[in-house]
Amino acid sequence: MTKNMSGRYFGRCIQDIMRFMPLLFWGKLFTSIAEGILKVWHPLLIAEIFQLAPELNDVNIRIFKRKIIFLCICIGFPSVCTLLLRAVGLYGECRKETFYGSKMYEFARKMRLEALEDKTVLDGFRKADAAYSQHLAGSRMLSYLLIDVEAALLCISTFFVVGSFSVWLLPGAVLGVVPHLLIEYISERRRNKVYRGQSAKRRRLAYLWRLFCTKEPVKEMRTMGFQEFLKKKWVRTNVDVVQEMEELELKAVRLSALGVLVRNCCYVANVAIALVLMLQGELAAGQFAACLMAFGLLQDQLFMLSSFVTAFLQSYHHVEEYYDFFQAETEDEGGEPCHSMEENHARPAKGETGIKLRNVHFRYPGAEQDTLNGVDLDIRKGEHIVIVGVNGSGKTTLSKVLTGAYRAASGEIRYDGQNISKIRKKELYRDISLVSQDFVHYNFSFRENICISDFEHMRDEGRIRKVTDVVGMQELIQSIGGLDVQLGREFGGCELSGGEWQKVAIARGLFRDSELIVLDEPTSALDPLVEYEVLTGFLNLIQGRTSVVISHRVGICRHADKVVVMKEGKVVECGSHEELKSAGGEYARIWGEQAKWY
Ligand code: ADP
Repeated sequence: MTKNMSGRYFGRCIQDIMRFMPLLFWGKLFTSIAEGILKVWHPLLIAEIFQLAPELNDVNIRIFKRKIIFLCICIGFPSVCTLLLRAVGLYGECRKETFYGSKMYEFARKMRLEALEDKTVLDGFRKADAAYSQHLAGSRMLSYLLIDVEAALLCISTFFVVGSFSVWLLPGAVLGVVPHLLIEYISERRRNKVYRGQSAKRRRLAYLWRLFCTKEPVKEMRTMGFQEFLKKKWVRTNVDVVQEMEELELKAVRLSALGVLVRNCCYVANVAIALVLMLQGELAAGQFAACLMAFGLLQDQLFMLSSFVTAFLQSYHHVEEYYDFFQAETEDEGGEPCHSMEENHARPAKGETGIKLRNVHFRYPGAEQDTLNGVDLDIRKGEHIVIVGVNGSGKTTLSKVLTGAYRAASGEIRYDGQNISKIRKKELYRDISLVSQDFVHYNFSFRENICISDFEHMRDEGRIRKVTDVVGMQELIQSIGGLDVQLGREFGGCELSGGEWQKVAIARGLFRDSELIVLDEPTSALDPLVEYEVLTGFLNLIQGRTSVVISHRVGICRHADKVVVMKEGKVVECGSHEELKSAGGEYARIWGEQAKWY
């Protein structure tokens, strides 16, 4: 949705600035006001000094000296303040980086995970990131704002100075300023509107550009020969965006030229009026010189004001983008403690242990229909279940909803009789280990890649050995030089194959000593022999813990306590391998299809 600019985040932004650098804020504000007021005395004092200089005597020499000292203060004081503030600013620089970054990080870690599937939220994330990393969110806006305050104060006080010489000079002074500023403001608003309207196109541009700069897509586009196709796509989108901006800038330049013409005409008219007034004897020579200085000052400040008003408005867009991000939905951090983790809590009734799903529905943000269509499922404590089903049947989605990562739209999920939506998220996650298909290759050491899931036990060599044994990585660890070797090419480390990375991810999931472990397509990159060894080792190691393995290969089902078959977002069959095979339904069909290959 294209939003127009409004001042809704201005107060919040200033409040935040006050939190991390109050001294700098007040200091800058004070200096801007002082400069805005003191600078205007220059022409007045110079006019008076000019008048006094030819007729100095014992009486007025004191006044003359006072004027000179005042002029020095007017020039020197703001400069000293600015120097002091620059020193304070150096300290503020580090604090603002940390402040804005931490604020984003703290919020992002509370965001609802299913919200990350929403393109608007992702777009907001990208914009907020750019607003923080490239534009420093609110602090840059504040700098521009204060320059504007100073320039505006100077313009206003210059009006008074000019008016004090003659009221005839006022219309020219006002007319020289107001239209020009209005024009700049209108142009900036138009720019903002178009820029926001181009959001989707700019996102596509950034996406295409990322493809050109990322290892895997570069290799694929070269070997498959579609780099020209992508380049054309990128050029077309780029031309679209640039053309629209060019048309806008052309209009802005035309309007701006009109503003400059009016401003310069007013300037010339005012100089002519001042000259006439001097010739008529209404202005002294010193006052005429002061008038010219004031007009010059007005022109300079006007130039400052118009460019910095534009800069302020532009930086304010980024402020909006930064604060818009904080509108995304977050997880409720409250809730009940997880009963299974409370030492003194009464054990759940017999029929209540384990995980129960009743009529669970889930729909992705922006999707037109439910991906989970009323799932019913019982998982007993310590049970090993395998979920199978064709692509798109909802297995991965079920794993996310089952673990509370995504919130079900309706229905009920109970852990030991306790409604999952009421359990404190932090405690719930502590009891779950989820290895998803799109696991991350961390460019950290081997040890960190495994132990990150329970980092307090980073040095528990026995535990590391157990899990690396299960996934058969001992030899590999020794051959690359031990657990503390850096992995991944990004920082010059050792690169692993797809299957090896997958083993690392399984080891990471196993290392976390959780009650429930969920593996989504954990062995898709392993060859069948290794897959068999890894999965049987996995089942042995987690005796007593509950496991859910999602797989499109049905071979592993023989080792499971229960097989769950998903179809079109529903559980259509549930039972042991033998039961389902002889039932002749969906499972038997998939089994038969896959058996043809072996
Ligand atoms: P499976 O794991 O069985 O292959 P998934 O749970 O990954 O199936 O996906 C089930 C269906 O959910 C997909 O066919 C797709 O239509 C939909 N889906 C998956 N992810 C998203 C998403 N991020 N946004 C919208 N729809 C999605």
